Amino acid sequence: LAKEQRKNNYQLFTKELNEKVTRRLKLERSLRKAIKQKELKLYYQPQVDIQTGKLLGIEALLRWNPSFGFVSPNEFIPIAEETGLIVQIGEWVMNEACRKIKQWEKHELLNVPISINVSVRQFRDSNFVRKVKEIISKEKINPKFLEIEITERVMFNVEESSESIKDLREFGIMVAIDDFGVGYSSLYLIANLDYDTLKIDKSLIDDLLNNERKMAILSAIIDATNNHKRIIIEGIETKEQVEVLKNFSVIGQGYFFSHPLPAKELELKVKQIGR
Ligand code: C2E
Ligand code: MG
Ligand code: MG
Ligand code: MG
Repeated sequence: LAKEQRKNNYQLFTKELNEKVTRRLKLERSLRKAIKQKELKLYYQPQVDIQTGKLLGIEALLRWNPSFGFVSPNEFIPIAEETGLIVQIGEWVMNEACRKIKQWEKHELLNVPISINVSVRQFRDSNFVRKVKEIISKEKINPKFLEIEITERVMFNVEESSESIKDLREFGIMVAIDDFGVGYSSLYLIANLDYDTLKIDKSLIDDLLNNERKMAILSAIIDATNNHKRIIIEGIETKEQVEVLKNFSVIGQGYFFSHPLPAKELELKVKQIGR
């Protein structure tokens, strides 16, 4: 019986592995096609003043919905990173976001920054900063309307990345640290690095209401940074969370306020929210 069991487990294991490899190959192949055929889209999620509900920012998020079904960026971004496709994809994201900024600036729909996510490989590309500046100059937009979101994984080499961050900020582009609260979340980093916005990860506020320790950590982080930085709390889903967070002057982002939306729907939403 034990032998039979092992054999079954083994077959199950190889079957799973096979499916994973097949899926990965399929995604990689389809992703190359998606870039060429412009199947990628940006959705936009509002970031609002937690106390007043006023719009204070917008995050652009990639969406890919190929004929075989929606694929989450959590699945395809790592593949894009590994294959290097992220450089092309990232450039498209930058261009697309800057075109939207230009359009919204022109129609006076926008007076808040739009943030885009930039992954490690893209940020480390020696041409990255130059490319961002080029796009901004080409579109003739005010750089203060663009924010670059990076995670602390980028700061693996602090020296190298602070040089790029300084360069971006001197040009007028905003810089946000994304997903703070997962991984190492070094306090050294938030104490010593120059940035504009700290984004606190959803995991830190998920069970905030029943977790005193998380509450203490959150208020310590906010205390340590809030005087001179914008703080965004990610993944707010409930009214109860909003009520607790109203004790702080922070920015909220999450399904409670709005899901990420296609540009057209975001425009309608912005008119509702008011500015
Ligand atoms: P992120 O930058 O931390 O983005 C926030 C994620 O949380 C988004 O997931 C957003 O849809 C989701 N979210 C927002 N509010 C809520 C909420 O109330 N509840 C829950 N459960 N989720 C919420 P999404 O769009 O699936 O993106 C996942 C990750 O993929 C992003 O995490 C980011 O790291 C990456 N990503 C997305 N777009 C891009 C891109 O253009 N370039 C790069 N390099 N990475 C991207
Ligand atoms: Mg982000
Ligand atoms: Mg995040
Ligand atoms: Mg994330």
